[in-house]
Amino acid sequence: MAMRTSRSPIRVLVIGGGIGGLCLAHGLRQAGVDVEVYERDESADGRRQGYRLRISPQGEAGLRACLPDRLEELLSATANVRDDSGLVAYDENLVEQWAPSFEDPRAGLPDKIDAVDRVTLRRILLTGLDGAVRFGKNFQRLEQRPDGRVTAYFEDGTEATGDVLVAADGTNSRVRAQLRPEDSPQDLGIRTIFSRIPRAEAIAAGLPEALQDRFSYVIGTDGHHLGLMPMLFRERPRQAAARLFPQADLVDSDDYYMSVFNVHQEDLGLSDEEFFALGGEELCALVVERTKGWHPDLREIFAFAQPETTFAVPLRATRPVRPWEAGPVVPLGDAVHAMPPSGGVGANTAIRDAQLLGGLLAAVDRGERELGEATAQYQRAMVEYATEGVEMSLRIAQWSIKKANG
Ligand SMILES: Cc1cc2nc3c(=O)[nH]c(=O)nc-3n(C[C@H](O)[C@H](O)[C@H](O)COP(=O)(O)OP(=O)(O)OC[C@H]3O[C@@H](n4cnc5c(N)ncnc54)[C@H](O)[C@@H]3O)c2cc1C
Repeated sequence: MAMRTSRSPIRVLVIGGGIGGLCLAHGLRQAGVDVEVYERDESADGRRQGYRLRISPQGEAGLRACLPDRLEELLSATANVRDDSGLVAYDENLVEQWAPSFEDPRAGLPDKIDAVDRVTLRRILLTGLDGAVRFGKNFQRLEQRPDGRVTAYFEDGTEATGDVLVAADGTNSRVRAQLRPEDSPQDLGIRTIFSRIPRAEAIAAGLPEALQDRFSYVIGTDGHHLGLMPMLFRERPRQAAARLFPQADLVDSDDYYMSVFNVHQEDLGLSDEEFFALGGEELCALVVERTKGWHPDLREIFAFAQPETTFAVPLRATRPVRPWEAGPVVPLGDAVHAMPPSGGVGANTAIRDAQLLGGLLAAVDRGERELGEATAQYQRAMVEYATEGVEMSLRIAQWSIKKANG
């Protein structure tokens, strides 16, 4: 197959307008590269993927590198205000067990971005791309053409052709299903229930001070785990947008906790079909029922969980992370390295991919690099750091995996 070596500008098709795909699009736009993002959702609202996202120093550097200055400022203005460099682990009687703290060079910095609200992040990432994002484009399949280019076909009968196609379509990637079906992520046997708990209500109802502003983790002797992560906005999203970027379509949110409840599939007493059919009310009831022997202060928090924001996901991981064929189809983010949220690095790794791949594609666009060699360099580096991310996330989740695997 012909490989591109010319000095003319390239056209990049990005399948998937999630965190990684949109970061890449911003980086490429800033470098003057022709890029289009094809997203299956009909609008910016997206799907259920949790609420609060931890941003590592590496992820913060990647976001700052990809985003134009005004969006970077807007993201920082709406980021989490508290320091996020430690957690406190309790048993189910609320007896403190362990309080590790992590080195975070950003601690105390007034503009740090160490956690963000996912909806706010996605809306910021969708700002300023001026028509480069096509919603309602559900990727179906691709064809690699004899001239080295790639054509993507969408369910609405349309198609698009580019020099590079980036598979940024997440854990259930259809691009991967077509080209690398053997690389599907493995089910880790853990089911996680995510919820959003308004902070003001929980505090007014007597949430103990120790749990109010810290990342708290409860390790029950019954094998169930509950995490409580506060999201305290530095500034309300709409107010920050009005001040910094009025065209940004941000929606307001009050401070909240994201709660995460882990349960082994084998302990559920329900098949996956039954479990994933449960609605928000039923999932909240399941958590309340499973924690009925826990300290009352812990159980009462759940009275404020919003059923409409409660959903369940299976934990999955890609093992091993492997490079795809060198060529014009390049994977990015969860499509190539899914990992459990336990490590808080999945999005950060997708952002790192976007930063690295964006820089290399910009060099190809300027005629300084050959496409196949640039994408191979990206994949070599990506496989190495993504493997570390997957393994680290699995180590943190090890308690569950050991149990699930007997
Ligand atoms: C509940 C939860 C909490 C998490 N918390 C953290 C955290 O704190 N920190 C962290 O770093 N990571 C976290 N993660 C992981 C993080 O969300 C992912 O790693 C990250 O979103 C991956 O980005 P991505 O761009 O690869 O995929 P996604 O963000 O999933 O984006 C994929 C996009 O592709 C689109 N798409 C899918 N199929 C098609 C198709 N056929 N055609 C067109 N478009 C398509 C989807 O609609 C979506 O918009 C968490 C994950 C979950 C589920």
